[in-house]
Amino acid sequence: VSTVVAVDGPSGSGKSSVSREVARRLGLAFLDTGAMYRAATWWCLDQGVPLTDQVAVAQAVRDLPLVVGVDPDGPTVVVDGRDVGVAIRTTEISSRVSAVATNLEARAELGRRQRAVIEAERTGGWSDGRGVVAEGRDITTVVAPDADVRVLLTASEEARLARRARELHGTADAAALSATRDQVVRRDADDSTVVQFQVAADGVVTVDSSDLDLEQTVEAVLDVVER
Ligand code: C5P
Repeated sequence: VSTVVAVDGPSGSGKSSVSREVARRLGLAFLDTGAMYRAATWWCLDQGVPLTDQVAVAQAVRDLPLVVGVDPDGPTVVVDGRDVGVAIRTTEISSRVSAVATNLEARAELGRRQRAVIEAERTGGWSDGRGVVAEGRDITTVVAPDADVRVLLTASEEARLARRARELHGTADAAALSATRDQVVRRDADDSTVVQFQVAADGVVTVDSSDLDLEQTVEAVLDVVER
């Protein structure tokens, strides 16, 4: 039997690290849908597509030559034969990704591709049909509302800021926190305009990671899977 686990949450909730580790322990594939939005943004910039032109962005995303690798031990993101795994994590991409995320046609296209990956892993694919942990903002609600397990990973704004500051600056001192605050708060606000990911939908289990470390959060999600 296959298992589909859907995990949503805001940036800094720890959902990528947690989902990846849950996938690893369960032998499931791992799908980072945020990486797909980032790859689409990278592609638009690479192709000189103006991010303010919604029709051009939608067209570029439909044509996006994207291949995602779903091995949790080394997920890959390849666009047009180029490994963009590092290039999509820059602050430039983070600050521009909302142009793709707020484009409804682009969302529809990426959502279709995400559902195709999930379906492939349910029946075969990298996981041999064991299934997949898919994480993002709208997986529990739009992309895979029929997933076997649906989790909303939340954390207080304070905890999320501290995590991001450590990721970006290696420390969570006052300067790092204020440098991070603008970015995180703005991106959450932009994201909230199209996807509702701050409150759990019906049937979605909330896991609050504010006071948990990575291992404890992984265990909390595994508990939900085993329920
Ligand atoms: O998770 P990550 O921070 O890498 O996601 C990057 C961006 O992609 C988010 O800020 C959001 O705008 C968008 N996104 C989305 N729907 C998803 C996953 C990500 O809109 N399912």
